[in-house]
Amino acid sequence: MLEDAVKSAWQYGRRFLLNGKVADYIPELSKASPVYLGVCVHTMDGKTVEYGDVDQRFTIQSISKVITLAMALELLGFDKVFSHVMMEPSGDSFNSILKLDTASNRPYNPMINAGAIDVIGLLAPEVSFETLLAFARTICMDDGIELDMDVYRSEAFTGDRNRAIGYLLKSKGVLSGDVLSTVDLYFRMCSLSVTARSLARLGQILANGGVNPVTGERLLSAQTVRTIKTLMLTCGMYDRSGELAVRVGIPSKSGVGGGIMSCVEKCMGIGIYGPSLDEKGNSIGGVYLLEHLSKEMHLHIFDSE
Ligand code: GLU
Repeated sequence: MLEDAVKSAWQYGRRFLLNGKVADYIPELSKASPVYLGVCVHTMDGKTVEYGDVDQRFTIQSISKVITLAMALELLGFDKVFSHVMMEPSGDSFNSILKLDTASNRPYNPMINAGAIDVIGLLAPEVSFETLLAFARTICMDDGIELDMDVYRSEAFTGDRNRAIGYLLKSKGVLSGDVLSTVDLYFRMCSLSVTARSLARLGQILANGGVNPVTGERLLSAQTVRTIKTLMLTCGMYDRSGELAVRVGIPSKSGVGGGIMSCVEKCMGIGIYGPSLDEKGNSIGGVYLLEHLSKEMHLHIFDSE
Protein backbone atom coordinates (compact mmCIF):
# COMPACT_ATOMS: atom_id res chain seq x y z
CA MET A 1 0.00 0.00 0.00
CA LEU A 2 1.15 3.50 -0.85
CA GLU A 3 0.57 4.82 2.70
CA ASP A 4 2.76 2.10 4.25
CA ALA A 5 5.50 2.47 1.65
CA VAL A 6 5.70 6.25 2.10
CA LYS A 7 5.68 5.95 5.88
CA SER A 8 8.45 3.37 6.01
CA ALA A 9 10.53 5.34 3.47
CA TRP A 10 10.12 8.46 5.62
CA GLN A 11 11.11 6.53 8.76
CA TYR A 12 14.13 5.12 6.94
CA GLY A 13 15.20 8.54 5.66
CA ARG A 14 15.03 10.01 9.18
CA ARG A 15 17.75 7.64 10.35
CA PHE A 16 20.33 9.48 8.25
CA LEU A 17 19.53 13.09 9.12
CA LEU A 18 22.39 13.51 11.54
CA ASN A 19 24.91 12.24 8.97
CA GLY A 20 24.36 15.41 6.95
CA LYS A 21 24.75 19.12 7.43
CA VAL A 22 22.50 22.15 6.85
CA ALA A 23 23.87 24.58 4.20
CA ASP A 24 25.56 27.59 5.74
CA TYR A 25 27.30 29.31 2.82
CA ILE A 26 24.09 31.33 2.55
CA PRO A 27 23.95 32.31 6.26
CA GLU A 28 20.15 32.48 6.46
CA LEU A 29 19.84 28.81 5.40
CA SER A 30 21.82 27.67 8.43
CA LYS A 31 18.84 28.52 10.67
CA ALA A 32 16.91 25.45 9.45
CA SER A 33 16.61 22.50 11.80
CA PRO A 34 18.54 19.43 10.59
CA VAL A 35 15.89 17.09 11.97
CA TYR A 36 13.10 18.27 9.69
CA LEU A 37 11.98 15.71 7.15
CA GLY A 38 8.72 15.92 5.28
CA VAL A 39 7.38 14.07 2.27
CA CYS A 40 4.28 14.61 0.19
CA VAL A 41 3.10 12.34 -2.63
CA HIS A 42 0.34 13.36 -5.04
CA THR A 43 -0.76 10.44 -7.22
CA MET A 44 -2.37 10.80 -10.60
CA ASP A 45 -5.58 9.20 -9.35
CA GLY A 46 -6.08 11.96 -6.80
CA LYS A 47 -4.53 10.52 -3.64
CA THR A 48 -2.28 12.55 -1.32
CA VAL A 49 -0.03 10.87 1.24
CA GLU A 50 2.10 12.97 3.60
CA TYR A 51 4.45 12.41 6.51
CA GLY A 52 6.49 14.77 8.65
CA ASP A 53 7.24 18.42 8.05
CA VAL A 54 5.08 19.15 5.03
CA ASP A 55 3.77 22.53 6.24
CA GLN A 56 7.22 23.98 6.68
CA ARG A 57 8.09 26.71 4.15
CA PHE A 58 11.65 26.78 2.86
CA THR A 59 13.39 28.29 -0.14
CA ILE A 60 13.27 26.48 -3.43
CA GLN A 61 16.93 27.25 -4.33
CA SER A 62 18.11 25.18 -7.30
CA ILE A 63 14.70 23.64 -7.98
CA SER A 64 13.82 27.08 -9.39
CA LYS A 65 16.14 26.13 -12.28
CA VAL A 66 13.39 23.79 -13.49
CA ILE A 67 10.86 26.63 -13.43
CA THR A 68 13.03 29.13 -15.29
CA LEU A 69 14.03 26.48 -17.83
CA ALA A 70 10.36 25.60 -18.36
CA MET A 71 9.52 29.27 -18.94
CA ALA A 72 12.46 29.71 -21.33
CA LEU A 73 11.58 26.62 -23.36
CA GLU A 74 7.94 27.69 -23.64
CA LEU A 75 8.72 31.29 -24.50
CA LEU A 76 11.92 31.13 -26.53
CA GLY A 77 11.93 27.57 -27.83
CA PHE A 78 14.28 24.59 -27.62
CA ASP A 79 16.77 25.72 -30.30
CA LYS A 80 17.35 29.16 -28.85
CA VAL A 81 17.83 27.87 -25.30
CA PHE A 82 20.21 25.07 -26.29
CA SER A 83 22.25 27.33 -28.54
CA HIS A 84 23.25 28.96 -25.23
CA VAL A 85 23.56 26.03 -22.85
CA MET A 86 24.52 22.38 -23.35
CA MET A 87 22.73 19.25 -22.11
CA GLU A 88 25.68 17.41 -20.57
CA PRO A 89 26.22 16.45 -16.93
CA SER A 90 29.19 18.46 -15.71
CA GLY A 91 30.40 16.11 -12.97
CA ASP A 92 31.41 19.24 -11.07
CA SER A 93 29.73 21.00 -8.16
CA PHE A 94 26.72 23.20 -8.90
CA ASN A 95 28.61 26.48 -8.53
CA SER A 96 31.82 25.45 -10.28
CA ILE A 97 33.42 27.91 -12.65
CA LEU A 98 36.13 25.54 -13.85
CA LYS A 99 34.83 23.96 -17.04
CA LEU A 100 33.08 27.16 -18.06
CA ASP A 101 36.46 28.83 -18.16
CA THR A 102 38.59 26.01 -19.49
CA ALA A 103 36.51 23.49 -21.42
CA SER A 104 33.57 25.24 -23.02
CA ASN A 105 32.05 28.63 -23.66
CA ARG A 106 28.55 27.31 -23.10
CA PRO A 107 27.58 26.13 -19.60
CA TYR A 108 27.28 22.32 -19.39
CA ASN A 109 23.57 22.23 -18.53
CA PRO A 110 20.73 24.40 -17.19
CA MET A 111 20.66 22.62 -13.79
CA ILE A 112 23.96 24.12 -12.61
CA ASN A 113 24.36 27.76 -11.62
CA ALA A 114 26.19 28.85 -14.79
CA GLY A 115 23.49 27.31 -16.98
CA ALA A 116 20.64 28.74 -14.95
CA ILE A 117 22.15 32.24 -14.90
CA ASP A 118 22.59 31.98 -18.67
CA VAL A 119 18.92 30.92 -19.10
CA ILE A 120 17.76 33.78 -16.84
CA GLY A 121 19.83 36.14 -18.98
CA LEU A 122 17.80 35.00 -22.00
CA LEU A 123 14.52 35.43 -20.15
CA ALA A 124 15.25 38.75 -18.46
CA PRO A 125 14.40 41.00 -21.43
CA GLU A 126 11.12 39.11 -21.90
CA VAL A 127 9.68 38.60 -18.41
CA SER A 128 9.63 40.33 -15.03
CA PHE A 129 10.18 38.69 -11.65
CA GLU A 130 6.42 39.09 -11.01
CA THR A 131 5.63 37.08 -14.15
CA LEU A 132 8.02 34.33 -13.08
CA LEU A 133 6.54 34.32 -9.58
CA ALA A 134 3.03 33.97 -10.99
CA PHE A 135 4.24 31.13 -13.23
CA ALA A 136 5.85 29.39 -10.22
CA ARG A 137 2.57 29.67 -8.30
CA THR A 138 0.66 28.18 -11.22
CA ILE A 139 2.92 25.21 -11.91
CA CYS A 140 3.30 24.40 -8.20
CA MET A 141 -0.43 25.02 -7.62
CA ASP A 142 0.53 27.10 -4.59
CA ASP A 143 -0.63 30.71 -4.22
CA GLY A 144 1.33 30.95 -0.98
CA ILE A 145 4.69 31.08 -2.77
CA GLU A 146 6.42 34.37 -1.88
CA LEU A 147 9.86 35.91 -2.09
CA ASP A 148 11.62 35.11 1.21
CA MET A 149 13.29 38.47 1.79
CA ASP A 150 15.64 37.24 4.52
CA VAL A 151 17.09 34.48 2.35
CA TYR A 152 17.18 36.75 -0.69
CA ARG A 153 19.16 39.41 1.17
CA SER A 154 21.48 36.81 2.68
CA GLU A 155 22.10 35.26 -0.72
CA ALA A 156 22.64 38.61 -2.44
CA PHE A 157 25.08 39.60 0.30
CA THR A 158 27.18 36.45 -0.08
CA GLY A 159 26.63 35.80 -3.80
CA ASP A 160 29.95 36.89 -5.29
CA ARG A 161 30.69 33.50 -6.79
CA ASN A 162 27.47 33.69 -8.79
CA ARG A 163 28.33 37.24 -9.86
CA ALA A 164 31.73 35.91 -10.97
CA ILE A 165 29.94 33.28 -13.07
CA GLY A 166 27.79 36.06 -14.55
CA TYR A 167 30.82 38.16 -15.47
CA LEU A 168 32.59 35.15 -16.98
CA LEU A 169 29.51 34.41 -19.12
CA LYS A 170 29.43 38.04 -20.21
CA SER A 171 33.16 38.06 -21.05
CA LYS A 172 32.57 35.06 -23.31
CA GLY A 173 29.68 36.80 -25.08
CA VAL A 174 27.17 34.21 -23.84
CA LEU A 175 25.30 36.58 -21.54
CA SER A 176 24.34 39.83 -23.20
CA GLY A 177 22.35 41.68 -20.56
CA ASP A 178 23.43 43.43 -17.38
CA VAL A 179 25.24 40.97 -15.11
CA LEU A 180 24.11 42.34 -11.76
CA SER A 181 20.42 42.49 -12.60
CA THR A 182 20.53 39.03 -14.23
CA VAL A 183 22.15 37.48 -11.15
CA ASP A 184 19.74 39.40 -8.93
CA LEU A 185 16.81 37.78 -10.75
CA TYR A 186 18.51 34.41 -10.24
CA PHE A 187 18.80 35.11 -6.48
CA ARG A 188 15.12 36.05 -6.32
CA MET A 189 14.06 32.85 -8.04
CA CYS A 190 16.20 30.81 -5.62
CA SER A 191 14.52 32.58 -2.70
CA LEU A 192 10.92 31.59 -3.45
CA SER A 193 9.29 29.90 -0.48
CA VAL A 194 7.70 26.51 -1.13
CA THR A 195 6.59 23.43 0.81
CA ALA A 196 6.97 19.71 0.14
CA ARG A 197 3.35 19.88 -1.06
CA SER A 198 4.01 22.48 -3.72
CA LEU A 199 7.03 20.52 -4.98
CA ALA A 200 4.90 17.37 -5.17
CA ARG A 201 2.38 19.29 -7.32
CA LEU A 202 5.11 20.42 -9.71
CA GLY A 203 6.36 16.82 -9.88
CA GLN A 204 2.84 15.64 -10.57
CA ILE A 205 2.39 18.06 -13.48
CA LEU A 206 5.70 16.89 -14.98
CA ALA A 207 4.72 13.24 -14.43
CA ASN A 208 1.48 14.01 -16.25
CA GLY A 209 3.25 15.37 -19.34
CA GLY A 210 2.61 19.06 -18.54
CA VAL A 211 -1.14 18.86 -17.92
CA ASN A 212 -2.57 19.92 -14.56
CA PRO A 213 -4.19 16.66 -13.39
CA VAL A 214 -6.75 18.55 -11.29
CA THR A 215 -8.08 21.00 -13.88
CA GLY A 216 -7.03 19.26 -17.11
CA GLU A 217 -5.32 22.46 -18.29
CA ARG A 218 -2.12 22.09 -20.31
CA LEU A 219 0.56 24.23 -18.65
CA LEU A 220 3.68 23.03 -20.47
CA SER A 221 4.20 21.44 -23.87
CA ALA A 222 5.06 17.74 -24.08
CA GLN A 223 8.48 18.59 -25.54
CA THR A 224 9.31 21.00 -22.70
CA VAL A 225 8.38 18.37 -20.12
CA ARG A 226 10.33 15.58 -21.84
CA THR A 227 13.42 17.80 -22.00
CA ILE A 228 13.16 18.83 -18.35
CA LYS A 229 12.63 15.29 -17.05
CA THR A 230 15.61 13.99 -19.00
CA LEU A 231 17.82 16.76 -17.59
CA MET A 232 16.50 16.06 -14.09
CA LEU A 233 17.50 12.41 -14.41
CA THR A 234 20.97 13.15 -15.82
CA CYS A 235 21.85 16.40 -14.02
CA GLY A 236 19.25 17.12 -11.32
CA MET A 237 21.01 15.80 -8.21
CA TYR A 238 24.29 17.72 -8.44
CA ASP A 239 27.40 15.62 -9.00
CA ARG A 240 25.63 12.57 -7.59
CA SER A 241 23.15 12.49 -10.47
CA GLY A 242 24.70 9.41 -12.10
CA GLU A 243 24.77 7.39 -8.90
CA LEU A 244 21.21 8.37 -8.01
CA ALA A 245 19.95 7.61 -11.53
CA VAL A 246 21.20 4.05 -10.90
CA ARG A 247 20.13 3.69 -7.26
CA VAL A 248 16.81 5.57 -7.38
CA GLY A 249 15.96 6.05 -11.05
CA ILE A 250 13.35 8.78 -10.52
CA PRO A 251 13.87 12.12 -12.33
CA SER A 252 14.47 14.58 -9.49
CA LYS A 253 15.85 18.03 -8.80
CA SER A 254 17.24 19.08 -5.48
CA GLY A 255 18.10 22.42 -3.90
CA VAL A 256 20.42 23.41 -1.07
CA GLY A 257 17.42 24.63 0.94
CA GLY A 258 16.67 20.92 1.45
CA GLY A 259 13.98 20.40 -1.18
CA ILE A 260 13.72 17.56 -3.68
CA MET A 261 11.08 17.55 -6.42
CA SER A 262 10.56 14.21 -8.18
CA CYS A 263 8.24 12.75 -10.79
CA VAL A 264 7.33 9.16 -11.49
CA GLU A 265 6.05 8.94 -15.05
CA LYS A 266 2.23 8.87 -15.31
CA CYS A 267 2.09 7.89 -11.66
CA MET A 268 2.97 10.50 -9.02
CA GLY A 269 4.74 13.68 -7.99
CA ILE A 270 6.90 13.62 -4.86
CA GLY A 271 7.98 16.63 -2.81
CA ILE A 272 10.51 16.35 0.01
CA TYR A 273 11.87 18.78 2.57
CA GLY A 274 14.92 17.84 4.63
CA PRO A 275 17.55 20.56 5.08
CA SER A 276 20.30 18.27 6.35
CA LEU A 277 22.39 17.79 3.18
CA ASP A 278 24.87 15.23 1.86
CA GLU A 279 28.31 16.45 0.79
CA LYS A 280 27.04 17.27 -2.72
CA GLY A 281 24.10 19.42 -1.56
CA ASN A 282 21.20 16.93 -1.73
CA SER A 283 18.81 16.43 1.21
CA ILE A 284 20.40 13.40 2.87
CA GLY A 285 17.20 12.08 4.42
CA GLY A 286 15.42 12.80 1.15
CA VAL A 287 17.84 10.74 -0.91
CA TYR A 288 17.53 7.70 1.38
CA LEU A 289 13.78 8.15 1.51
CA LEU A 290 13.55 8.18 -2.29
CA GLU A 291 15.83 5.16 -2.62
CA HIS A 292 13.69 3.19 -0.16
CA LEU A 293 10.43 4.22 -1.83
CA SER A 294 11.77 3.43 -5.28
CA LYS A 295 12.81 -0.09 -4.19
CA GLU A 296 9.60 -0.83 -2.29
CA MET A 297 7.28 0.35 -5.04
CA HIS A 298 9.43 -0.47 -8.09
CA LEU A 299 9.47 3.14 -9.22
CA HIS A 300 12.85 3.06 -10.99
CA ILE A 301 12.38 4.35 -14.53
CA PHE A 302 13.93 1.15 -15.91
CA ASP A 303 12.41 -1.27 -13.44
CA SER A 304 11.06 -4.27 -15.28
CA GLU A 305 9.64 -6.16 -12.27
N1 GLU B 1 21.06 29.95 -4.59
C1 GLU B 1 21.97 28.86 -4.55
C2 GLU B 1 23.30 29.23 -5.18
O1 GLU B 1 23.30 29.75 -6.24
C3 GLU B 1 21.35 27.69 -5.23
C4 GLU B 1 22.19 26.49 -5.08
C5 GLU B 1 21.43 25.22 -5.16
O2 GLU B 1 20.39 25.04 -4.59
O3 GLU B 1 21.99 24.35 -5.82
O4 GLU B 1 24.34 29.04 -4.64
